[in-house]
Amino acid sequence: MPDAIYQRHEKYINPLLVKRLATLGFARTFVSARGSEVIASDGKSYLDFMAEFGSVPFGYNHPELVDAINHSLASHAPSFLHVAPNPEAGLLAEELAARLDPPLTISFFANSGTEAVEGAMKIAYAATRRARVLYCHGAYHGLTLGSLSVMGAERFRGPFPSLPGCDAVSFGKMDGIVERLKTKRYAAFIVEPVLIEGGIHVPPSGWLAELGALCKRYGTLLLFDEVQTGIGRTGTLFAYQREGVVPDVLIYAKALSGGLLPVGGFTTSPEWHAKAFPRPEDHGLHSSTFGGNTLACAVARKTLQMADITLMKTVRDDGEYLGARLRRLANESPLVAEVRGIGLIWGIAFAPPTRGWKTALSLGLPNAISQRLLAHWVAVRMLERGFITETCVHDETVLRVEPPLNVGRPAIDRFLDALTEVLRENERFTDFVKQAGARLIERALRKA
Ligand code: PLP
Repeated sequence: MPDAIYQRHEKYINPLLVKRLATLGFARTFVSARGSEVIASDGKSYLDFMAEFGSVPFGYNHPELVDAINHSLASHAPSFLHVAPNPEAGLLAEELAARLDPPLTISFFANSGTEAVEGAMKIAYAATRRARVLYCHGAYHGLTLGSLSVMGAERFRGPFPSLPGCDAVSFGKMDGIVERLKTKRYAAFIVEPVLIEGGIHVPPSGWLAELGALCKRYGTLLLFDEVQTGIGRTGTLFAYQREGVVPDVLIYAKALSGGLLPVGGFTTSPEWHAKAFPRPEDHGLHSSTFGGNTLACAVARKTLQMADITLMKTVRDDGEYLGARLRRLANESPLVAEVRGIGLIWGIAFAPPTRGWKTALSLGLPNAISQRLLAHWVAVRMLERGFITETCVHDETVLRVEPPLNVGRPAIDRFLDALTEVLRENERFTDFVKQAGARLIERALRKA
């Protein structure tokens, strides 16, 4: 473990995270990155198959994006000056409007996903003057207080107060939705078109369209959180475009940054915007100092241009290939219950150990804990083979496969070959228990 760096983080940033990284063997320091390849301080090279939760669409430090930054800096344009409109922000909004469906034309720019979610919720509250919001179990919308109120996992919400009137429903199902919307008390229904951190669930075809129709009928704004699905992750620029359901507010962040400079935002219709902010003095009711700054918008514009039709087709083709091979793996391995996904976002759901084995082999651990340990163990073994992956945040029994969009077939093949070997080497749950247990004991002894 690169001690000084970890010790500094332990002392000054997040002692708990450092301990967690060290426990099963994630501890590394990465010193350089180009494309999908990341180099650690010991010179070892890794292929990135999580793309920083989808925030790195074209791999690290893409030369065209670096050029866009250098070009913007060389222009000496002010980074922001709030007494006048920022030219780069206007151009970015125009480019977004050209790619989105009518009536989505009015954009607000922020610096992160959670900030964009908060802004979108404010639009819905203000435009409808209603006080309730629907969201989905398993959803991830960010960690500031407003977003946390619609976070579909208790673990994160635990000690914090929530906004009143936020109610959860099941993703991909209609249970309880009509009854709630019918009350006409809901300002917004916020939903990810593909539930990502909740375990990579693609909703049944037609579900989003049904939500769209119901929200329209009962005057509730439909908010699509495309912070992770946006900019091509599912094979269209935004996931909603695959379903043809245009939301009232589209929320984005992560990949729009090109993986280089923070940018987030949302786009809505002139009508909703005018309803939310009807008076002249409302122009500043929502703003953010760095939101829409010159550098971030320049990079975002370049990112949009690079996420073109050709790349989208590659994502769909590579995604189908990846999905087909993952499904084959799932059929062959007793460890895998299911694989789910679309485009270049896939999840490998591990099976409960009682399926086909005796419960005793799971060391008496409940199934959910055993599945989580197994998913983390596979991530560690993949890291040791030079591939970076992670479990989903809310459903740690699912390992995500989320490479940069331009990762390419050879890298996908290398990843799948390594995964096949790792699953084989842990084929029986006892093998996994033996290996992971030995690792934990060895680490504990080293510390003692
Ligand atoms: N919404 C979704 C769907 C996300 O996946 C995330 C982050 O993972 C967020 C919102 C929050 O984004 P940020 O971490 O930039 O605040």
